Parts: sequence; C-alpha cells; structure tokens
Amino acid sequence: MTDTPSFRSDVTVELVKHSASDTDVLWAARVSTVGEQSLEEVSKDPERSKGLINYLMRDRHGSPFEHNSMTFFVSAPIFVFREFHRHRVGWSYNEESGRYRELEPVFYIPGEDRKLVQRGRPGKYEFVDGTPEQHAALGKTMEDSYRQSYAAYRELLADGVAREVARATLPVGLFSTMYATCNARSLMHFLGLRTQHEQATVPSFPQREIEMVAEKMETEWARLMPLTYAAFNANGRVAP
Ligand SMILES: Cc1cc2nc3c(=O)[nH]c(=O)nc-3n(C[C@H](O)[C@H](O)[C@H](O)COP(=O)(O)OP(=O)(O)OC[C@H]3O[C@@H](n4cnc5c(N)ncnc54)[C@H](O)[C@@H]3O)c2cc1C
Repeated sequence: MTDTPSFRSDVTVELVKHSASDTDVLWAARVSTVGEQSLEEVSKDPERSKGLINYLMRDRHGSPFEHNSMTFFVSAPIFVFREFHRHRVGWSYNEESGRYRELEPVFYIPGEDRKLVQRGRPGKYEFVDGTPEQHAALGKTMEDSYRQSYAAYRELLADGVAREVARATLPVGLFSTMYATCNARSLMHFLGLRTQHEQATVPSFPQREIEMVAEKMETEWARLMPLTYAAFNANGRVAP
C-alpha cells in the first residue's frame, strides 16, 4: 500500500469470463419453430443464421440476445461508476468497498486528447479542444487537489477515524474497481446510450470517460459475437 498518489488518463476494461456466441442467439430463436431440435439447427446454414440474427435485431425481437454472459473487470474514476450504475436492467455489479479497505491513491487526469471546452447551451452543445495552457493548468490544479484530499484521508485514518467516514474527503476523480456482468442485449442498450457512432440512428452524447469504458467493452463483445455485432450496427445501434 503506497500513500503516494498516481495519476491516470485511461481506464481498464478486461473481459474476465464469458459464455457468449452468435449460436446462443440462434438456438434460443429457433426453439420458436423447431423446439428442442434447435441446438442441432445452428450450424446448418450460415447465411440463414446471419439473416435470422439480422431479422431479430431489425424487428426488435430481443430476448434471444439474453442467453449469454460477459463479466468485465473495470477500473475507472468514481464519476464514471455513478453513471454506469444507472444501467439497472440486465447488469450485475460488485464494486470495491471504501468501508472494508483503504482506498488506493489513483486519480484521473484527462489526457491531451480529451476535449476540454464546452460550447453552446444545455442540450445543444459541443466540446472542443482545450489550449495547451488549459491542459497544463488542469493537470496542476487536479494534482494539487488530489494530493491534498488524499493527505487529509490518510491523516484521519492515522487519527483512528473509520475508513467509511474518512473517505468523505476523497473526490470523484478517484479510481474504483468493479466486476460488471451483462448479456448482449443489456450491453447493446448500454452501448446505444454511452457511445457516439456514425451508424447510430438515435444519437447520444455521453461523457467521454464512460464512452472510453464502453468502447473497450464493445471491442471485446464484437470479437465474441461478430454476427450480432454486425446486425447491431446495420440496424442503427438500437438495442432490440
Ligand atoms: C447522455 C446521457 C445523459 C444523461 N443525463 C442524466 C442526468 O442529467 N441526470 C440523471 O439522473 N440521469 C442522466 N442520465 C441517465 C439516464 O437517465 C438513464 O438512467 C441511464 O442512461 C440508464 O438508462 P436506462 O434507464 O434506459 O437503463 P436501464 O436501467 O438498464 O433500463 C433499461 C430499460 O428498462 C426499462 N426500465 C428500467 N427501469 C424502468 C422503470 N422503473 N420503469 C419503466 N421502465 C423501466 C426502460 O425501457 C429502460 O430503457 C443520462 C444518460 C445519458 C446516456
């Protein structure tokens, strides 16, 4: 355990466990028409399988996309987790505890490529690049603030104050860790809201940092379920 703060501009997403493939969608869908034989049907005709997945996605026949599971380890700032945990349906979460362990001093500082300046009015604004001076000021101010708040946390702990009370000194830029388990349907709903994508027919405007997490999850999922992923994009990235 170190009490020297460290600073990050990225997030960690690791797929730690999965049972997820396009065939999971196919057998679940085909039980509608061929009953218990559906497991044998899945590898018969790849073109038909692709067509079936696309049809399910297009007509928003969503439940066949639920018979799979992906568990991700995520390390990201607390403000990202606050947004993440609003996704209630088809997600399970377990997060590290500030009551049961001393929190590590890892803090978020936006990278050089993070757009810093908001222009326009709420609901109709864009983000543009910050100047080098703004980035420098941001880095310094955040570092100073993080160091100060972590020193206060450690001081309270040294005075015998309980972790669950002392943690109130810590900011939302502190990194936390969690396991998040979802299925393809709940992941698609999440991706539709938390990414910006040229193929999205219903655009969303997520905060960049949760989008960084979403993009990494999307990369893992695309590899596991390529037909489902292609159908998601082809149908405007709207969860079925
Ligand atoms: C760009 C953006 C900006 C946002 N800004 C804010 C903000 O300023 N303040 C704020 O509080 N939140 C904000 N949110 C969070 C947002 O309101 C949702 O809580 C979050 O996106 C999760 O979406 P969800 O409820 O569809 O997901 P889930 O909770 O996973 O639900 C999935 C679906 O299940 C159904 N469902 C779930 N629960 C219910 C229910 N109780 N009743 C009826 N149907 C239900 C709905 O169809 C829902 O779409 C923002 C989200 C985004 C993407």
